[in-house]
Amino acid sequence: MTTTSATADRSTGPWATALDQLTSACRVLGYDEGLQAMLATPRREMNVAIPLRCDDGRKMILRGYRVQHNISRGPGKGGLRFHQDVDLDEVRALAMWMTWKCAIADLPYGGAKGGVTIDPLQHTRGELERVTRRYTSEILPIIGPERDIMAPDMGTGEDTMAWIMDTYSVNQGYTIPGVVTGKPIAVGGSLGRTTATSAGVVHVTKAALADAGLGLADVRIAIQGFGKVGSHAASIFAAGGARVVAVSDMYGGVHNPDGLDLPALVAHVAATGSVVGFERAEPVDNVALLALDADVLVPAALEGVLTEETAPTVQARWVVEGANGPTTGPADKILVDKGVTIVPDILANAGGVVVSYFEWVQANQAYWWTEREIDDKLEHRMLTAYRDVADLSRRENLTLRDAALVIGVQRVAQAHQIRGLYP
Ligand code: GLU
Repeated sequence: MTTTSATADRSTGPWATALDQLTSACRVLGYDEGLQAMLATPRREMNVAIPLRCDDGRKMILRGYRVQHNISRGPGKGGLRFHQDVDLDEVRALAMWMTWKCAIADLPYGGAKGGVTIDPLQHTRGELERVTRRYTSEILPIIGPERDIMAPDMGTGEDTMAWIMDTYSVNQGYTIPGVVTGKPIAVGGSLGRTTATSAGVVHVTKAALADAGLGLADVRIAIQGFGKVGSHAASIFAAGGARVVAVSDMYGGVHNPDGLDLPALVAHVAATGSVVGFERAEPVDNVALLALDADVLVPAALEGVLTEETAPTVQARWVVEGANGPTTGPADKILVDKGVTIVPDILANAGGVVVSYFEWVQANQAYWWTEREIDDKLEHRMLTAYRDVADLSRRENLTLRDAALVIGVQRVAQAHQIRGLYP
């Protein structure tokens, strides 16, 4: 299994981007080298081999990682990604972003992330279950409801979480739902978790538009990605009165300047497995989608899609980052210079981990809230986080990304300093 792709490039990959972001936040905060090094260095990293027996009897070895970037504010928290390009540096970056994201949303968590270098589309359900269970048993000593709590990410879902919960629980000898979030409802999942990231994206988009005196009905939105984040976001945006003019998935995209009929598109995807071929729209590829005439662009797929090549083509006035790390450092500068307002990933897509937190609280207290309670609490958390970031951005003349980083980094540094360095 190869680990090539842009993510393998140490100077421009996500880990370089994450470290550069931390450096600029530390500069604003006036932190010394020692504190910056503490914040930059993952507390714990596990790198495991995952032997897999395929259905046809063939044996292969996969690589798996779990990185706990920071645990100063609480247990590690973050998703598990199955993707063919996963490598340790990408997982480190994603873990660091979880640290800042949890702090910005004021959740009592640190940040962590896991990954397995595997293309889930090339494997059967049985093989994916065996990979998940073996990965879980390899990292068993460092996870747990008080240590490190996994959740779905790209290539994983509620079935994956059920297998992790079962493997962990069987090994401990009793049922422990709090070891993962994003579980099926039947085994302690939370209402509202499936749509939480998307609902959060919509809450912050509305707040950012309101700051410019606009509402959803005034804007046209293009969304790259029609998976766990993009598909629900498209439906919620459309239901809220926005014109969703384009969406895409890994196979291609569709564009209709008058607005896509989302219920019909969702039915088309359910029937065919892709947005491609949807009749009431023109085809558009994933790169061209970024440059469409729209007011709001929501990259909700892979990282590193807004680059020095694609950023200059963006016409949207707002970029709301549904994905983690969709904008490279140089692209961020290009967009800011063009006057684009970027609502950064660590704020915009925090809705997922916010409802993960609610799920964990419910599991720990063994008492479940209604969907209405979850939705209200999510909205409150997202709007509070947005306000904190937008106010600091205005006060200190920072971009929303820098303001979000400053808030996240400062909350983590404060926890570290109050606790003190042991011994
Ligand atoms: N994978 C999601 C993220 O990147 C959710 C993490 C979680 O719920 O722990 O934010």
